[in-house]
Amino acid sequence: MSPRKTRLGPQRHLLFYFLAVAVALVGVMLWLGWKLVRQDKELAAQRLQERRESATDLAVVALKKSLSLIEERMTRLASLAPAEQRRQAAADVTTLPDDCALILFRPDVAEAFPDVKLPFYPTVPSEVGPSASLFAEAERLEFRQSDSAGAVAALRDPAHSSDPRIRAGALVRMARNYRKLGRWGEALAAYEELAAIKDVRIETLPADLIALQARLRIFEQTNRVEAAKQDAVLLQNGLRERRWRLTRGAYEFHAAEAQRILGQAEQPPADGETLALASATETLYKEWRRNLPAAGNRILWESNQPLLAVWRQANDGLTLLLLGRRWLEAQLEESRGFSFAKQGIVVVLTDADGRSVVGRPASGPQRQTVRLAAETQLPWNVHAVATDPDTVLAPARTRQRILVTAIWLISALILAGAYLVGRAVTREMAVSRLQSEFVSSVSHEFRTPLSSLCLLSDLLASGRVASDADRDAYYGVLVRESRKLRRLVEGLLNFGRMEAGAMQYRFETVDPAELVRELAADFQREVEASDFRLEMTAAKDTPLVSADPTVLGSAVWNLLDNAVKYSPECRQVWIDVLKEDGRAVIRVRDRGLGIPASERKRIFEKFTRGEAARQGGIEGAGVGLAMVHSIMAAHGGEVRLESEPGRGSTFTLSLPGVR
Ligand code: ADP
Repeated sequence: MSPRKTRLGPQRHLLFYFLAVAVALVGVMLWLGWKLVRQDKELAAQRLQERRESATDLAVVALKKSLSLIEERMTRLASLAPAEQRRQAAADVTTLPDDCALILFRPDVAEAFPDVKLPFYPTVPSEVGPSASLFAEAERLEFRQSDSAGAVAALRDPAHSSDPRIRAGALVRMARNYRKLGRWGEALAAYEELAAIKDVRIETLPADLIALQARLRIFEQTNRVEAAKQDAVLLQNGLRERRWRLTRGAYEFHAAEAQRILGQAEQPPADGETLALASATETLYKEWRRNLPAAGNRILWESNQPLLAVWRQANDGLTLLLLGRRWLEAQLEESRGFSFAKQGIVVVLTDADGRSVVGRPASGPQRQTVRLAAETQLPWNVHAVATDPDTVLAPARTRQRILVTAIWLISALILAGAYLVGRAVTREMAVSRLQSEFVSSVSHEFRTPLSSLCLLSDLLASGRVASDADRDAYYGVLVRESRKLRRLVEGLLNFGRMEAGAMQYRFETVDPAELVRELAADFQREVEASDFRLEMTAAKDTPLVSADPTVLGSAVWNLLDNAVKYSPECRQVWIDVLKEDGRAVIRVRDRGLGIPASERKRIFEKFTRGEAARQGGIEGAGVGLAMVHSIMAAHGGEVRLESEPGRGSTFTLSLPGVR
């Protein structure tokens, strides 16, 4: 197993395990979250469905109740006899919405309640006019002899009769003859008189309506446009106020006449709703005359308006109630059916053919609930439609969004947490491993000088030294090795202080060239034995610096020591002192192993050694450069490194000048 593998293997695994557990956790969370979101969605849809179901049921119950109440009342009303009592009771019926009406039929009589309701009726009272013999002479003169003046004279007496029917008959004929004679003024006067006679019909038409219509014609004939318009307004108002009880034909004719004279811009005298009521009345009347069940209800479509017809036959009459959309809406509103509107649900009614009676049904089955007429025995299909399922489901969506965000957040936190914890643990382990390596390296470094010291001291003490020259050489080695040992111990002590932040610096103004010169001389002596040469250059203008000379010296010594240690082939190292941008620079160069780019940053960390150093079995504890780095930081300076593997390295210390 390679050393690198030994160094990183277990820690890499550890980080991997941490991350694997975190990923598994996140996976489980995402799965649970997804399940939860899906369930929540289903629940929201189900709740919407339930709401629709209960809205439909509520509406069905309310409609059934209203309908049975109506039917009960109708039965009671229809059972009243005689007809007069029925009329009385119908008149007392509480107010119905505008698009509803109660109609009582007796053979040849149809009456609506409220009485101003219908613009026309299926049957109107027809009056038998006065005996034809009364006007026989006048008509003979008028038609056989074309003697209109004679006819007028013959009609004068009856025109003053006290019987309004005779008077009306005479005035109509007189006015007609005046028109034939072109005596417009007298014709108009006769019509005026006729118009004043109320409650008299000539056949099926009211006398005053005949007078009004005839005057209109005269005004048109004589080009009196304004007067014609005035009368057309009167005619239209009369129709609007339901002043006359008319058949459909008469109503439509007069309404069209008024409209023709007044122009299309004028509102017709009856709206779609009332026309629908009148048409429905007519339809039911006709059916009643032919064959109609004794009791029942049915939806009728008249003028595109849906009307619910409820009827009862009794006592020779038919009692009919026509109920329009507004009544239905009121019933639904009274039920809680419409309060669902707030929750985005509306109740919709359609007839058996699917035509919408109230509201609009939805296009897809998934958005509505239906109770068919066949199952509820109501005349309508009842639907509950979700108008905007998106808004109804909005709270659920928000909930889901929050949940998803929370899950993602927690997942991210778990992953980040696992990574950080894993990395911290890995680092701690690396540090503790490096520390133990450090202890063994330091022990190793101590052992070499200590063994030399012991060996030489033993030799000297035993007196077995051959010559004085040898003794001197041994003493020299003793001095060098003990200095080395002292430097080692001091270095380690200083490192301990720096780590603890307890290092005491004694700053003074120092000439870096001078400091390096002395140091270089010492160092040269130190490495002479191993054939190393140190070459020094110093620029004259190097600025002075504020530094602790001992500590700064130890940093330079460390660099020189490394330069020698990591130069297995080239036996020369260089040290230059110079000025650069007003700063003092000390540069230590070697042509040794060099440092790969990947290690250039890390080697300044404590206990970190390069790969080449380890593999080459070069002694060291991995604290030298860490110390250089913190010494430079304490001096307000910096350390830089340029290196090329296999070609050597240059370490540069740069310090601010004090001058
Ligand atoms: P040590 O020398 O005791 O290992 P250092 O902190 O002094 O610790 O150096 C850290 C590492 O930097 C060394 O292990 C070595 O790999 C690399 N290094 C330092 N100086 C040099 C140099 N001059 N040439 C090549 N490598 C060096």
